[in-house]
Formats: sequence, structure tokens, C-alpha cells
Amino acid sequence: KDAGALTVIGLGPMGRAMAAAYLHKGYQVTVWNRTPEKAAQLIEKGVVLAPDITAAVKANELLIISLTEYATMYSVLEPAKAELKGKTIVNMSSDSPGTVAAAADWAANLGAYFLSGGIMVPPPYIGQEGPEIYTFYSGKKTIFDRYQAVLSVMTATDFRGEDPRLAMLYYQGLLDYMYASVAGLLHAIALMQSAGITAAAFEPYLHNFMQFMPVLLAESATSRETDERTYSGAENNMVMLRAGTEHVLKASREAGINTTLPEMIFNLSDAAVAQGFGKSGINSLIEVLRKPVM
Ligand code: NDP
Repeated sequence: KDAGALTVIGLGPMGRAMAAAYLHKGYQVTVWNRTPEKAAQLIEKGVVLAPDITAAVKANELLIISLTEYATMYSVLEPAKAELKGKTIVNMSSDSPGTVAAAADWAANLGAYFLSGGIMVPPPYIGQEGPEIYTFYSGKKTIFDRYQAVLSVMTATDFRGEDPRLAMLYYQGLLDYMYASVAGLLHAIALMQSAGITAAAFEPYLHNFMQFMPVLLAESATSRETDERTYSGAENNMVMLRAGTEHVLKASREAGINTTLPEMIFNLSDAAVAQGFGKSGINSLIEVLRKPVM
């Protein structure tokens, strides 16, 4: 075991996958978790369970953190604060970019180095390779460079910049899209199932329809139009789309399923028309989304 040594703090599904990946590559892995029982299988394979958080921090220079959110890091590390000087904390947990910036300051005040990571795959993909398997990082470039090879054991790395918020911004940007898409997808399935049509029967149509998503992004110029703030409505204007979203809402009401999501989409379209984008295309919705709700 001479690949290197590190500490993993937090043994949810993600932390366990990380510890296992490092172990597999020959690293000496020390772990700590609030519920120590979760380390049982890892211990069998050779991971060392630290008796307390201070021992976990003292054990290695590199501390990889995988907790539910950033607030948890403060409470977990509190007893070991004095030991953090000179350590590198790589926090792979989810939170808001502002929260990450505050954590970077907190670490700097303790004399610790700090990187934030936003992992774009679920636990089974940790330690695997593929174009969609990567993690966003941000923080001091010199620190990232020092540990890049070690971090690459988990997934490929994509360094976004020195502003500590960047990794989390890209991460939440993609998750923002994912949560809304998954909710939309499941709502559509609920609508079909309410009429006795199974998801399996609907799936080929969904799959086919999804081929339009990259087309939407590329050919109807979502990127260009939203950057330039000019929205062509030649082929589909917001007045038509407002009616269209109302029809999905009506279909959902008729089906007796939850209408929160279609109501939201209809309200957004309604606001776009009210704000003067009736003749603009679907991308003009972003003008409504850019502002807080009045
Ligand atoms: P879990 O929420 O299952 O794991 C949470 C970890 O945080 C556990 O170690 C848990 O300890 C610990 N924890 C939670 N609250 C406290 C507390 N108050 N005090 C001490 N420890 C606490 O998350 P995952 O392992 O799934 O994910 C970890 C992070 O990675 C999250 O931020 C998640 O958003 C992110 N992520 C997860 C992905 C996934 O698919 N799972 C994908 C990409 C990112 P205990 O075991 O004692 O409960």
C-alpha cells in the first residue's frame, strides 16, 4: 500500500464509494463517520476507522469530505479545528455557491487549504471512467494541481477556476436542469398512467422525443438567444405556448393528478406574455426566470 494516504470523512453511499475506490487503487484510507457501523464492510477490506474526528484529521494531510451539506462539516470538524492548520480539505458535498465561499474563508482562517468539488455522477460510478463521469473543482490552482492525480481516482476532474463558488455553480446549474427535467418526466408518466398507459408503453415515445432536446439547445439557438437577449418567435411564439401550457394543465386536472408543476409552467408562460413577450419565442421565458417572483 504505497499509492498514498488520505482521510474520508462521511460514509453515506458517496463517501463509502470514494473510500472503496481509493482502497482499490492501493491507498491507505482512514475514515470517520458519525455512525461508525457504516464503516464495517470497508474495515474488512483494509480501511482504518479513526476512533474520533481529531484522529481522522491528524492521520493525513488530505481530507475528503462527503457529508449531506456544508453546515454538517462545521459541526463535525469543530472538535478538530486546532488540527486543521496545513491540511487540505476537499469538500465534495452539495450546497449553494455562497455557502461554499464562506467555507473557503473559514478554512483559510484556520490555516487550511480548501477545494470544493461537485460530483456529477451517483456513487456506483465513482472509480469508473467515461465522458460523463467527472467532478467540477474550484479553489487555489496550486492546491488543485498538487492533488489532481489523487482526485482523479474518484472521477475525472474539471477545474473551473480559483473562485471557490465556481464548482458548485456549475454543479447546481446542471442539477437545476436535472431536477426540473426529472419532475417533468415523472409528471408526464403520471399523466399517462392515470389513463392506464404504462410507463413501459410510453417509454419509446419519450425516448424518441428526447432526441429533440439537443436540437432545442443547438438549432433553436437557446445559448445564442439567451446570451444576446433576442428571441425569434417566427415558428413558436409565447401566445401559442401560453395556450399550450394551459392545455397540459387542463389535461392534468382532467386526469386528477398533481397540478403543481404544469401550473408553474403555465404561470411562467402567462407572465412572459404579460411582460410583452407574446410574439417572442420560447427562449424569452428566461426574461421571467431572471427576475425574482414579485
Ligand atoms: P448522505 O446524505 O446519505 O450521507 C450523508 C453523510 O453525512 C453521512 O456520513 C452522514 O452520517 C453524514 N451526516 C449527515 N448529517 C450529519 C450530522 N448532523 N452530523 C454528522 N454527520 C452527518 O449523502 P451521500 O453519501 O449520498 O452524498 C454525500 C454528498 O454528496 C451530498 O452532499 C450529496 O448531495 C453529494 N452527492 C451525492 C450524490 C448521490 O448520488 N448520492 C451524487 C452527487 C453528489 P451518518 O452515516 O451518521 O448518518
